[in-house]
Amino acid sequence: MPTAEIIAIGTELLLGETADTNTRTLARVLRSLGIDLYRAQTIGDNAERISDTVHQALERADIVITTGGLGPTVDDPTRQAIAECVGVPLEFHPELWEQITARISRYGRSPTENQKRQAYIPKNAIVIENPVGTAPAFIVRVPFTKQSGKETERGGKIIVSLPGVPREMETLMSSAIVPYLQKAFDLHSVLKIRTLHVSGLGEGIIDDKIGDLETLVNPTVGLTAHSGVVDVRIAAKADTESEAGRMISIVETDLRSRLGDDICGTDDDTLERVTLEAVARRGWTLACFEINLQGALLKRFAQTGHAAYRGGRISEVQTETLADGTKSALEEFQASSGVGVSYSQEDEKQDIRILLVTPQREAEHALTYGGHPGNARRWAVNMALDILRRSALEAG
Ligand code: ATP
Ligand code: MG
Repeated sequence: MPTAEIIAIGTELLLGETADTNTRTLARVLRSLGIDLYRAQTIGDNAERISDTVHQALERADIVITTGGLGPTVDDPTRQAIAECVGVPLEFHPELWEQITARISRYGRSPTENQKRQAYIPKNAIVIENPVGTAPAFIVRVPFTKQSGKETERGGKIIVSLPGVPREMETLMSSAIVPYLQKAFDLHSVLKIRTLHVSGLGEGIIDDKIGDLETLVNPTVGLTAHSGVVDVRIAAKADTESEAGRMISIVETDLRSRLGDDICGTDDDTLERVTLEAVARRGWTLACFEINLQGALLKRFAQTGHAAYRGGRISEVQTETLADGTKSALEEFQASSGVGVSYSQEDEKQDIRILLVTPQREAEHALTYGGHPGNARRWAVNMALDILRRSALEAG
């Protein structure tokens, strides 16, 4: 299995002006190819630092992918840096210059001398023409790398340099680089991911229940927490999609036997949608009421467009009790069940109250939140959704 590293190039990334979306895009493509991504870095527009970084990445990885720094200006140093790193000169490609000229004239402009830089590519590199922009990409098959005068053998490794403009980067990656990697590294393995969403349990409790599975090697099991919802991600690598699916289902069965109804959904499911589905299965309809939640609860329900959700009321400050507000929402929207949530923060203490009214019963829950106030409302909504979901599952 080949290994890869990503190097995002651009001072604007380090200045925090541009968010590095290219690394994320590339990481996902590599994942789908079954290539192990071991490291991703960001470097400014400095030829020496880029060259050093690529050199070091080649010590570890089979495939080093750079994005950015292929533009026509002096501060676009990637071509030069890669050429220096592998110890080859830049070579002028008249056919590339012709294409660049043609593309620019199509916009009614004439190419500047600067733009000629983009027709220089490290010697012996494979040129990838850019149908959606001017900067061509290239692949360097690394014979050796050069650092402080020393040459090191690097047979079989490659450097892929892609433009920084996300749309161009993506197009060249999928149309040219992916097929190249599949062929060059004889890739036939697939990585399949299955995500189970767990709601209402803290990360620590889940970890206690499934910690032993988190040490598995293939499939791997990993946790990501999002304020009251924890994603349990199962990732399997195999030669075929169906083999990966079989490996995942063994682990999923084990996880389900341990977590049961704590699992609220899978993959693209959202907590609000599965909750409304559970409500609808009971034949209930729902209205909601929130105090000091900045619309967080209403928004989550409304986004689903689910027919079981009838509407809700918002109170920015407490002018009526949670019970009164929830009951008037029930009446106003003619719903058979309701959920009310309030959030208050006083002297570092964050109190959340959740009122649930179903055709069978009425129950109030008082919770305290210990995390960052910026996440409190989302957490409160997730807890309320989970309480509603569980009572809809239990009822009847
Ligand atoms: P071009 O030939 O279009 O100049 P380039 O390879 O020189 O391409 P850059 O100049 O580095 O690319 O960046 C072009 C644009 O793409 C800029 O707007 C930059 O902010 C954006 N960009 C660069 N790198 C990334 C990245 N990693 N993620 C998202 N956007 C990026
Ligand atoms: Mg740049």
